[in-house]
Amino acid sequence: MKNHSTTDDDTSKAIGVMGGTFDPIHFGHLVTAESAYESFSLCEVVFVPAGDPPHKEPKAVTDAEHRLEMTRLATEDNPHFCVSSVEVAREGHSYTVDTMRHFREKYGAEAELYFITGVDAILQIPSWNNAEGVFEVCRFIAATRPGYSLSELMQFTEQLQPEYRDRIHVLEVPALAISSTDLRRRVREGQSIKYLVPEPVQRYIECTGLYRDI
Ligand code: ATP
Ligand code: MG
Repeated sequence: MKNHSTTDDDTSKAIGVMGGTFDPIHFGHLVTAESAYESFSLCEVVFVPAGDPPHKEPKAVTDAEHRLEMTRLATEDNPHFCVSSVEVAREGHSYTVDTMRHFREKYGAEAELYFITGVDAILQIPSWNNAEGVFEVCRFIAATRPGYSLSELMQFTEQLQPEYRDRIHVLEVPALAISSTDLRRRVREGQSIKYLVPEPVQRYIECTGLYRDI
């Protein structure tokens, strides 16, 4: 299934941007990015770890340098994945609108830009800073995620103006009921995270002692 049908210009690029806290990155994130790459004929997927996420208590989030490094480790074996430190490098709150404007400038007006996100994050759009600005600059890929129903998403999108609704594309991904919250709990309680995160990420967490005491 090829969903990328938004431009007549065969030379234009389609880029996916996968934002997240990635605290830590796990196979749910990776399978979502890979599915989007395939289904939307993307050239690449850029992973963007959040610097200072406005929706989370700053103290509850691991240092950006650790999250950035784990994201690098998780993606380095995939030639069409890359990592951007744009949000980590930015002072103050990271807003999706600023990030997507940054990528619009970088890839140019012809590029088809997709913000890849789970259904749970789409439902939070009304609370975003300048959500209209994000719709103006990119399209959304709304990935299914265990625990979040598609009917809830449909109810939400039906309330949107058509020009916004048409810019949200649903993507069904193989269901992996993994969350970073659960991974942090597992490490804290001494449980295994093997087969839930890539091996280099697992080793990094073991070596640094991340999540053991929080
Ligand atoms: P936390 O529990 O700390 O919120 P998380 O697992 O939700 O962590 P985030 O970094 O918050 O991970 O998520 C980044 C993006 O990846 C979000 O758009 C989220 O919806 C999506 N995502 C996270 N886990 C999955 C999953 N298992 N399947 C599909 N999408 C996912
Ligand atoms: Mg989350």
